[in-house]
Amino acid sequence: MEIVLDECAGFCFGVRRAVDTVYEQLEKGKTIYTYGSVVHNEVVVQELAKRGVKVLEDKASLLALPPGKGEEKAAVVIRAHGVPEEIYGILEQKGLECVDATCPFVKRIHRIVREQSAQGKHIVIVGNPGHPEVEGILGMCRGPATVVEEPGEAENFVPEEGDSLFVVSQTTFNYNKFHYIVEIFQEKGYNVSVVNTICSATKERQQSARALAARADVMIVIGGKHSSNTRKLYEICRGECANTYFIQTLDDLHLELPKAVRLVGITAGASTPNKLIEEVQRHVRINF
Ligand code: SF4
Repeated sequence: MEIVLDECAGFCFGVRRAVDTVYEQLEKGKTIYTYGSVVHNEVVVQELAKRGVKVLEDKASLLALPPGKGEEKAAVVIRAHGVPEEIYGILEQKGLECVDATCPFVKRIHRIVREQSAQGKHIVIVGNPGHPEVEGILGMCRGPATVVEEPGEAENFVPEEGDSLFVVSQTTFNYNKFHYIVEIFQEKGYNVSVVNTICSATKERQQSARALAARADVMIVIGGKHSSNTRKLYEICRGECANTYFIQTLDDLHLELPKAVRLVGITAGASTPNKLIEEVQRHVRINF
């Protein structure tokens, strides 16, 4: 039996960078807070919690922190998704050290929407309005901004007369759906400029997982229950391979391998640490 690990499995560049940043700050002996969980993976978050990293769930918990002077060695790490501009302001007012691990691809979107909205454009963000990345992008706009997630919302959207629309997307948004929504705006004859800001890491991981699942007899997808990109990977793999398992840790893996299994494929979401992937790989190799 062959076990194949998807070459794109696990942390993307932005998440790896953010997690490494937290560990680097810990080495400096500081009290570390992260603004939101640094990754959507409970195993990583629990491990960091054991090392004393505290998670600030929202703006209210940041506001409740004592000022920096009282806790000179405290640093707040901004995770890969980024935050609205006002959060930087609060950190500065409170005198807390800001360690910005926003993914450079998300930073690029922040820069674009700041520039375009300063020029008077109405920003349209194609994405999930409840996702922290979208909240961060929205919080960088300096004028009118609208979040659109579904084609029906694009159909119903009516800009103010004379509005020029500038469309960007959440980095993890579905490519085909983004284009469909943009087409709706274009067909309505609005004055619209578009920058596709979907990150290729997601697309590459999905393509690679799909190709592996198509060859596999059994597919294992590892990732956090709340990670939307892992859930999407699971759906893609399940579409290609009926024997697909979605697990968060090794404890969830109750494999029942049919006798004729030739190939077990393993993939993992963008927030899954290598350690966990290796553990699963080792377990399957030893036990089956
Ligand atoms: Fe950055 Fe892309 Fe990873 Fe998002 S998916 S954190 S944009 S590398």
